[in-house]
Amino acid sequence: MFIKSIRWRLQLWLAFLLACILTGFGVTAYQLQRLNRLHQIDEELDRAVAALAGDVRGRPPFLGPPPAGLPPGPRPFDSGPDFPPRRRSGPEGRLPRGAPDGWLDTREIRLSPPTAALFDNAGTHGLYFVVWSRAGAVLKRSTNAPPDLPLPDSPGVMAATGVRLRQAHREAYQFTEIGECILTGRNIGVDLAAVRRFAWWLVCAGGAVLALGLGGGWLLVSHAIRPVQDIGAAASRIAAGQLAERIDLADTDSELGRLAGVLNSTFARLEAAFAQQRQFTADASHELRTPIAVIIAEAQTTLARARSATEYRETVEACLAAAQQMRRLTGSLLELARFDAGQARLECARFDLAERVQACLDLIRPLALERQLRIASDLVPVELVGDSDRLSQAVLNLLNNAIQYNRAQGEIRVNTRAHDDAVLLTVADTGIGIAPGDLPHIFDRFYRADPSRARAEGHCGLGLAISKAIVEAHGGSLEVASQPGAGTTFTVRLPRNAR
Ligand code: ADP
Repeated sequence: MFIKSIRWRLQLWLAFLLACILTGFGVTAYQLQRLNRLHQIDEELDRAVAALAGDVRGRPPFLGPPPAGLPPGPRPFDSGPDFPPRRRSGPEGRLPRGAPDGWLDTREIRLSPPTAALFDNAGTHGLYFVVWSRAGAVLKRSTNAPPDLPLPDSPGVMAATGVRLRQAHREAYQFTEIGECILTGRNIGVDLAAVRRFAWWLVCAGGAVLALGLGGGWLLVSHAIRPVQDIGAAASRIAAGQLAERIDLADTDSELGRLAGVLNSTFARLEAAFAQQRQFTADASHELRTPIAVIIAEAQTTLARARSATEYRETVEACLAAAQQMRRLTGSLLELARFDAGQARLECARFDLAERVQACLDLIRPLALERQLRIASDLVPVELVGDSDRLSQAVLNLLNNAIQYNRAQGEIRVNTRAHDDAVLLTVADTGIGIAPGDLPHIFDRFYRADPSRARAEGHCGLGLAISKAIVEAHGGSLEVASQPGAGTTFTVRLPRNAR
């Protein structure tokens, strides 16, 4: 399903994040723009109200008694501790002495030239004004003021100011100390339309940014996951049997590049292991085929005609030798397989390595003498915990090789010693040595530096592999140093408390 693909998941997350960011940004920008516009309008209206209020307050004072017979109006200010202001006489209160509540002040309001100039501008801004008396009667109004303009609700406090939004009209008002109300306003439909246009512009720009962001994100994600696809494709080809395939990543320093490097070295090891396995199978079959071929040939030749008892005996002996070779070979292979599987059982006990090496030397001494080889040993008693039989088997392999690949009247030097927590055994000979090109392989199974010579002696190239497996099963190591024509030295290093 597409939702399971990394590409789509990343894309959906990106879309979600972008949409959230753009929506937040758009709403904030819209609100700021709207508030800013209203603030500008309010400032403009406040200025007009203040100018008008100055003119209203600046009317000449009453000088005589109130004209008789003027109709009383309703009392708009019935509440609040300071409203209505207590009537005072004289110019400060601007009410004639003895005027009743709701009495209509008929003093004419004249606009000063700067105020008049503000409202002359009405053609451009549509600025209008209305002045109400404390009783709610209209004292003065501009010609462009909307009809039936409602008087703002009284806040109940002296000299209160306020703004209101009435459909498309923004209006600012102020109550004077004696309760008259001065209101200016204008139609802000054009401004609101501009803010709405801005909102649409934001929506369109946001949509475009979202589309661009998602397109860019798609390209980025494609670019980012291409190495993953390459890795997957290479792994599939390798799984299909093309073991020589490798992941080809240009950017080796990135995380994926490093992963590809690790995978490539794993694939290389796998390929080598498969090749080794194939080689091992081919070598094992080859080694087994030789004694089988000997047995078949001997039997066929002997059965071709009647033979003497001696001839039959020779044939049986040849078959026995071939069968024993096969048994040695299969025994070695089985042993190696057990070491590989970690199933080789070690019978561990404390023993003196020098004693066991001495026993091995005693065993091979006749063979060495036969080849006129001198044995020089320096065996320092060193105790360790391990499987003495198996370690003796490894030592015998090394000693046999030292005899096998030595020169006539050569020498074999064997010594044991302790070194820190380890026990060292060296077997050195003065033989043919090993060429540098062969050295890395001599522990490989069935590897023989000189196959014709080794095969002639009945060696199949498993001795060192088994010796190494035995030593490593004890937690030790087997190393070799050699100089062609001068000799070879094998060093066995074992921990004192081997596993
Ligand atoms: P093999 O049974 O053939 O001796 P090994 O595993 O014991 O098999 O040895 C592998 C190969 O290493 C030998 O065929 C030989 O070429 C080389 N080799 C081992 N020991 C020596 C040595 N002491 N001197 C020279 N070559 C040696």
